[in-house]
Order: sequence, then structure tokens, then C-alpha cells
Amino acid sequence: MLIKSHRLCSIAIVEAGLIVSNTYLKSPTSDILLLLATSVGAGLPDIDHPNSTASKKSPIHFSLFLHHRGITHTLLGWLIFTGVLYFLMNLVIPIQLRPFEFNWWTSIWLGLIIGYFLHLLEDSFSTQGVNWLMPFHKVNTRGRFLRYKVGGSFEKMIAFLAFIAILMMTAYALGKMMTVSV
Ligand SMILES: [Zn+2]
Repeated sequence: MLIKSHRLCSIAIVEAGLIVSNTYLKSPTSDILLLLATSVGAGLPDIDHPNSTASKKSPIHFSLFLHHRGITHTLLGWLIFTGVLYFLMNLVIPIQLRPFEFNWWTSIWLGLIIGYFLHLLEDSFSTQGVNWLMPFHKVNTRGRFLRYKVGGSFEKMIAFLAFIAILMMTAYALGKMMTVSV
């Protein structure tokens, strides 16, 4: 998937999750931060791509030492990211993990790690697949589920549907917010 598609699909999934779990709008600021962080997190695993914006903008070209869909596209990579980010962010402001009592800082952490995870999940359905258990096990999801070509018309259609879903869910949320405040 292209980064834009990853962002749209991941935001749509998380927003739907908020609505279904009935936690949407309990804290609008946290929700917005969660969705924005999801969008950022959903782009992170592809820093190993030669054409990634992160690689192009930073002085280090990540793709030189990370081959595409290597360590960043594994369960281990996600766990390391989750743990290191928790440690670093916790140094600044404590992360609150009690369910439904998250502070805004926790929403950012959650958004980043959920976005990252959803990226891997979305890539699992592509023709290249994902080696979730590398370096311990060489099992690729390639061909196990439905397959789409990166940047192809199926992906574009899914991204478009995600975009429409985001618009509808946001309109629903705003409508609900206004009826509450009236
Ligand atoms: Zn990827």
C-alpha cells in the first residue's frame, strides 16, 4: 500500500473502533490526537522504502541499511517500536494505561503504535505479503488472503472507500457533539 492509502485505511479503522466501542467523543481532544497519531504511525514502517519521505527528508537514508519490508515489517519490529516509544515518552509525561482513563499523551502513544500495527496488517494482504515472525520463522502472508497490488486500482478503491467512511463518521461525530451541546 502507498502511504496515503495506509493513512486513510488506518484512520477509518480506528475511528470505526471508537464509534463501535462507544468511547468516541468522551474526550474529543484525545480522539483527535489518537487519529492524527494513527495517521503518522501508519506511515512509519515504510521509512525503509527508498522513496519514503522520511528517508528523503532526513540526513540518514534509512533504506540504505533497512531493506524494504525487513525488520520494520515484523512483529519484533513493532514490539521494539512500541517498547522504545513507551520508554521515551514515559520519561517526558507518564503514560496512563488504565482502560478508558487515558490521558492525551497516552492517546498519542496508542495512535502511533496502533497505526504502525495496522500498516503491517494492511501490507499482509498485498502481493508481497509480510514476514510477521522474522527473523525467527520465515512465514510470509503472501497469497494466504486476498491479494492486491501496491498502488493498483483495488488499493485505490479501498483508500477511496476509507476516505468516504472517515467523512461520514466524522460528520456523525460532529452531529452528535452538536446535539449534546445544544
Ligand atoms: Zn509497508
